[in-house]
Amino acid sequence: MKMFDVIVLGGGPAGYTAALYCARANLKTMILEKMWPGGQMATTSQVDNYPGFNEGIDGHELSERMKLGAERFGVISEYGEVVSIEASGQPKRIKTNSAEYECKALIIATGAAPRSLNLPHEDELRGRGVAYCATCDGMFFKNKVVAVVGGGNSAVADALYLSKICKKVYLIHRRNRLNATKTYLAPLDEAENIEFIWSSQVVEPIYGDLLTGIKLENTETGAVSQLDCDGLFIAIGRRPNTDLFEGIVDIDEAGYIIADETTQTNVEGIYAVGDVRTKPLRQIITAASDGAVASKFIEDYFVQLCGRNHKVKSLRYKSEPNRFFVLTPENYEVGELNLEPTTDNTFIITHVGVDNSYNGLGIAKELVRQTVEAARQNHWKLIPRCPFAKVEYDKHPEYKDTLA
Ligand SMILES: Cc1cc2nc3c(=O)[nH]c(=O)nc-3n(C[C@H](O)[C@H](O)[C@H](O)COP(=O)(O)OP(=O)(O)OC[C@H]3O[C@@H](n4cnc5c(N)ncnc54)[C@H](O)[C@@H]3O)c2cc1C
Repeated sequence: MKMFDVIVLGGGPAGYTAALYCARANLKTMILEKMWPGGQMATTSQVDNYPGFNEGIDGHELSERMKLGAERFGVISEYGEVVSIEASGQPKRIKTNSAEYECKALIIATGAAPRSLNLPHEDELRGRGVAYCATCDGMFFKNKVVAVVGGGNSAVADALYLSKICKKVYLIHRRNRLNATKTYLAPLDEAENIEFIWSSQVVEPIYGDLLTGIKLENTETGAVSQLDCDGLFIAIGRRPNTDLFEGIVDIDEAGYIIADETTQTNVEGIYAVGDVRTKPLRQIITAASDGAVASKFIEDYFVQLCGRNHKVKSLRYKSEPNRFFVLTPENYEVGELNLEPTTDNTFIITHVGVDNSYNGLGIAKELVRQTVEAARQNHWKLIPRCPFAKVEYDKHPEYKDTLA
């Protein structure tokens, strides 16, 4: 079974950012993705609000760039759908439909998926006229007539996108006004082939081999009508992909994993980032931001784990009196540290070396922490604002040899 320091579930912007940061911190990191890199981001053709791209960027291209950026630091991308998790203790075990993995820390970045309308036969009509992503499936309806259901930003963005491809677009909303942001209003007015159908809900698809139309019910009068169309795009919001985590981490009533700005869940070593967690704004930049934050807390978690398993010991050699080693309980050497005396009776940590296969970063920090602690106990003084690099010998040269 393959063992990793960190496994990230989901390869959207949150997952790839978390993976990039973890790998860059020398943690052996893998991403498990069930579909394609980029998640929801990859389904939009134009991202204008991710900084750094003055003309905007295609979501698919941004996804590829995030993937390559993470892989540059050694992130391994594997494809497979996670089907079960055993995550209460150490190591954490993850099963996909084709393999099993182990890791010390788990990042949940499974994002969200489109909500369905729960129409009769909706599932079987997916790919036969019913669609959830205009930028992914719009081209299948070139010069055809489509209906978009919804009244928020996604529905409006989909309708606008489809209006450039399709002959006619109906935008169906159960209320009599949109919930979309103002920036969409002018382009909507300009799009001559978009027609609004207000106060209406779809109640039934009409189909043969493919969808041929829909039945609509007026939400004010109850009147039922029929609309001919080749495609039905459902854009009524997203549902977090958290079914797998029920009973493993705390989840709120709407299905989001409860995690605050630290991204920590209620279970030690499990973090939730991006759209899948409770948060006020679900966007690419906030997803990426979560990924960065998670890595910081994972580093701390690894320091704790290492502290439990490793101890600093002095293995003083005559030729190297200031060399310290970190040993596993089995006395296997996994890291080392050098203290060099300087002329003014201060000592500088000149070298921290660790074996990366033993989670270098955590051990390095723990090695320094324990050595500094030992220095304190032996009356060495820390120089303020320079906690890691320098320790001052407290005018008691006799203690010089006892730091161990
Ligand atoms: C059409 C559309 C347009 C958008 N436009 C913008 C925009 O212009 N600007 C902006 O900032 N935001 C935009 N967003 C929102 C933005 O895309 C999301 O907020 C962001 O992608 C969330 O990132 P994430 O990594 O949390 O999750 P997602 O992007 O949802 O990624 C989650 C990943 O996890 C994978 N996954 C799920 N379950 C499993 C499992 N069991 N096993 C393995 N893998 C799994 C999924 O396949 C997916 O790839 C848009 C969203 C949509 C749908």
